[in-house]
Amino acid sequence: MTMITNHMPTSELQALDCAHHMHPFSNQHELSERGARIITRAKGVTLTDSDGNEILDAMAGLWCVNIGYGRDELADVAARQMRELPYYNTFFMTTHVPAIALSAKLAELAPGDLNHVFFAGSGSEANDTNIRMVRHYWSAKGKPNKSVIISRKNAYHGSTLGGASLGGMVPMHQQGGLPIPDVYHIGQPNWWTEGGDMSPNEFGLSRAQGLEHAILELGEDRVAAFIAEPIQGAGGVILPPESYFPEIQRICDKYDILLIADEVICGFGRTGNWFGSQTVGWTPHIMTIAKGLSSGYAPIGGSIVCDEVANVVGSTEFNHGYTYSGHPVASAVALENLRIMEEENVIGHVQDVAGPHLKQKWEALSDHPLVGEAKIVGMMGSIALTPDKSTRAPFAATAGTVGLICREFCFANNLVMRHVGDRMIIAPPLVIQPDEIDVLVNRARRALDQTLLEIKATGIF
Ligand code: PMP
Repeated sequence: MTMITNHMPTSELQALDCAHHMHPFSNQHELSERGARIITRAKGVTLTDSDGNEILDAMAGLWCVNIGYGRDELADVAARQMRELPYYNTFFMTTHVPAIALSAKLAELAPGDLNHVFFAGSGSEANDTNIRMVRHYWSAKGKPNKSVIISRKNAYHGSTLGGASLGGMVPMHQQGGLPIPDVYHIGQPNWWTEGGDMSPNEFGLSRAQGLEHAILELGEDRVAAFIAEPIQGAGGVILPPESYFPEIQRICDKYDILLIADEVICGFGRTGNWFGSQTVGWTPHIMTIAKGLSSGYAPIGGSIVCDEVANVVGSTEFNHGYTYSGHPVASAVALENLRIMEEENVIGHVQDVAGPHLKQKWEALSDHPLVGEAKIVGMMGSIALTPDKSTRAPFAATAGTVGLICREFCFANNLVMRHVGDRMIIAPPLVIQPDEIDVLVNRARRALDQTLLEIKATGIF
């Protein structure tokens, strides 16, 4: 077989890709017809594809490349660690320095008494850990019936059986007989699509009270935990109304249940603080982490756990773990990523420079005829596309049709922006500079203009 390299023609690479590579979250037949876009290298916030196009990555990969692409320090640390100790496990009374150092660093960064880390290879795996950990916790406390985990519709918590069950994505549940038993979903705080005639704050309160209703309906003695993303990411970058999290906190304080903040997207600076739960003012017992932990340079995730849960779970053997829990290379890379974030004050850059600039430019998009609301916190934002801003009406075409058209125009303008239904979303690298933000928003606006022309021409609008 010939060597497959970056230098092969795009069409040959695409043919091999579709012959052998099954893609996540893709229709493989459609992909085969069109050919996948092949990314060959990246630097800063810019991707280069196999045809030499330079594309601004307004999604930081999959919300993960927080410090931007092409940081040699991380490559150097990985190479050094691979030479010294490429692998050893953390089972059976064993450990190694990268796992020790990373867990200690995370305990320092995490708020309150979140002092203990159980490592995984990804966010999905970490949420699977959480399901088993909270159930084991209650069981160890003599309450084995406290096994129900309450989550939210349209939440995303991963793609494993456990993660997808916690998630509230109906198309995911439809494949594979999910959710697993004892997972219960309440409504999401998405005022734009579900708020009806209520004000955002009335709606936020009522959706938070949905948690109390669920606890009362199920019985406090059945509920183990509540899990939520501080800001829903894959569900469309839904910023909850201000009333939502204080009420959630009040309810959580009232009942004896554990709180899991899924920080896989919101963690590590994305919302302008180390953790999204700090931004929304919510105090969890467990935080799920992944993505920005290593800026995506190595696969690693985990659960940061409070003293009480760690103590109870640690009192008997927890029959759980992954071959790559605390993988030394991934841990060393994550540690270096956190060092860079601190030394270069990446969060300060989000708070004082990139965040305010992006907010101003992004919110200005709401003057566009297609844009109903433009929402942003830190470095994650969304715009809702609508034919009628005043009624927040959806398009007559199937949900997602206009969003997809817009996303294609973004690609054509060398901008990666995702669509969730008819919502366009961004989460650029945190290190993005003001001039790059201007390019991002100009390209987004051009894509919106082209979308408007197209949907007028095709009679959708
Ligand atoms: N939780 C959240 C909030 C996520 O956004 C994701 C991934 N997008 C996951 C969990 C799953 O993480 P992974 O893909 O690393 O398994």
